[in-house]
Amino acid sequence: MITLKSFMSGNWQEGTGKPSVLVDPSTEEPIAESSTEGLDFAAAVRYAREVGGPALRKLTLGERAALLKAMSKALGAHRDELLDMAMRNGGNTKSDAKFDVDGASGTLGAYAYFGKGLGDARLMPDGDAVPLSRDGDWVGRHALVPKGGVAVLVNAFNFPAWGFGEKAACALLAGMPVIVKPATSTALVTWRMVEILDQAGILPEGSVQLVSGAPGDLLSHLGPQDVLAFTGSADTGLHLRSMQEILERNVTVNIEADSLNSAVLAPGVDPGSELYELFLKDVVRETTQKTGQKCTAVRRIFVPTDAVERVSADLVARLEEVVVGNTADPSVTMGPVTTARQLRDNRAGIDALAAAGTLLLGGSEPIDGVGAPAGKGYYVRPTLVRFDSARTASVVHEREVFGPVSSILPYDGTPEDAAELVALGNGSLVASAYGDDPEWLEGIVTRFAQWNGRIYLGSSGVTKAALGSGLVMAGLLHGGPGRAGNGAELGGLSGLRLYQRRSAVQGDPAVLARIFGGRSDA
Ligand code: NAP
Repeated sequence: MITLKSFMSGNWQEGTGKPSVLVDPSTEEPIAESSTEGLDFAAAVRYAREVGGPALRKLTLGERAALLKAMSKALGAHRDELLDMAMRNGGNTKSDAKFDVDGASGTLGAYAYFGKGLGDARLMPDGDAVPLSRDGDWVGRHALVPKGGVAVLVNAFNFPAWGFGEKAACALLAGMPVIVKPATSTALVTWRMVEILDQAGILPEGSVQLVSGAPGDLLSHLGPQDVLAFTGSADTGLHLRSMQEILERNVTVNIEADSLNSAVLAPGVDPGSELYELFLKDVVRETTQKTGQKCTAVRRIFVPTDAVERVSADLVARLEEVVVGNTADPSVTMGPVTTARQLRDNRAGIDALAAAGTLLLGGSEPIDGVGAPAGKGYYVRPTLVRFDSARTASVVHEREVFGPVSSILPYDGTPEDAAELVALGNGSLVASAYGDDPEWLEGIVTRFAQWNGRIYLGSSGVTKAALGSGLVMAGLLHGGPGRAGNGAELGGLSGLRLYQRRSAVQGDPAVLARIFGGRSDA
């Protein structure tokens, strides 16, 4: 049994009291334990502010970019070990594990690249200088500097590697030290990542700390120069952002939460075409990859009324090919959900959907996984539910079933109808739309953009290149309005904004030019 220590105030520390036990969800065998009881969280916050922040701010942006590159390389050197841990603690197939682990090193690498061009600057300009006097001898310009506190990164159970990598990349490049707190149930991978980085000797002192489990009173020590970057359920997000201390001290909070993402098929897409194949392939992948436990998974599939029969049959046929079981068995193509609580939530959610619609495949009954001991493991079958009316089926727009579960719904084929129905999800991370008619696609983009953080357009020209709507790219915004948390992460250098202060500087153009280093891009 591995004991997960926390890395706080420069030391690896073990909590007291009864530990939480981390299991292999494929078999329910215990694999690790952790406790954070009795640890001094106030000291960790102070250590980040007093040691980590100054150490990072001493580095130029280019040097911080080099740090991210070194982090990416160090993690890459331990890739196989991390993949194995993600498979054991997360119930990931190898391909799921790569999605998470390679996503972390890839995002760190991408930010190393974005940051490289910033060279020896320590502050970033935001926009060009603006003249403040008629003859131009007095100007103003916005400067972006790192916030002076600590960024606490609270992550969801489904991406222990990527969730850490993507948040840390932006915070560290901006110049803020981080305290990462993975979900307790899958903390193994994050714990090992921080251990690898510590052992590699590349981290400036105090720049990265780890809480391997419950966060105790950590958040109550945050203040106006600190950031809480949260990913998880809408309920927890609401609780954290409403904490008295967080509100009173105006702590910056970013929430990445639930999302009922949509895939929309245009009218008239030929079932024999490559575009139709892309649609089917994407929907099946986005329903079953990581056992549907992706914030970007497709939950609602909108199809023109006359295509519902055909699409339902094709999706059922594809989903029936999925082999559910112990991810240590090479024949398995989809693992279990990650925790016993997730299994209970999945079953209840499937029952709620099936009660309102027609169950086409799957269901909530217990199943044994291929290669798993009988009665053990948190297995859910790929599940597809059909609804005859998309407007009356409120449950499908309100309940996120966080597993391999999605629903098929009719619409009238117009962008107007699709947009109205997609908006019933009250704000999503991503929506995908499949069609070749430019007018239809334009109608989708103009109407979807208000309610969706990202719009993935599948058309015949991208059938070979497009990698699916579930893949979050470092160069593009991640975060959606409303229910999705109204947060914003990534998006190239704009992903640093969460961790920066913007200040307007007024003065002599020559003085400002020197301070800003002549740069006009930010
Ligand atoms: P969760 O139960 O809300 O937990 C998320 C994180 O919050 C965990 O690290 C958890 O720690 C921590 N937490 C819970 N209560 C806390 C408290 N009182 N103080 C401080 N931290 C607290 O969510 P989850 O079950 O891990 O994740 C599933 C959800 O995340 C899904 O709804 C999914 O849609 C969403 N998600 C969203 C995104 C996105 O980018 N938008 C990405 C991934 C997942 P413990 O584990 O120690 O309780």
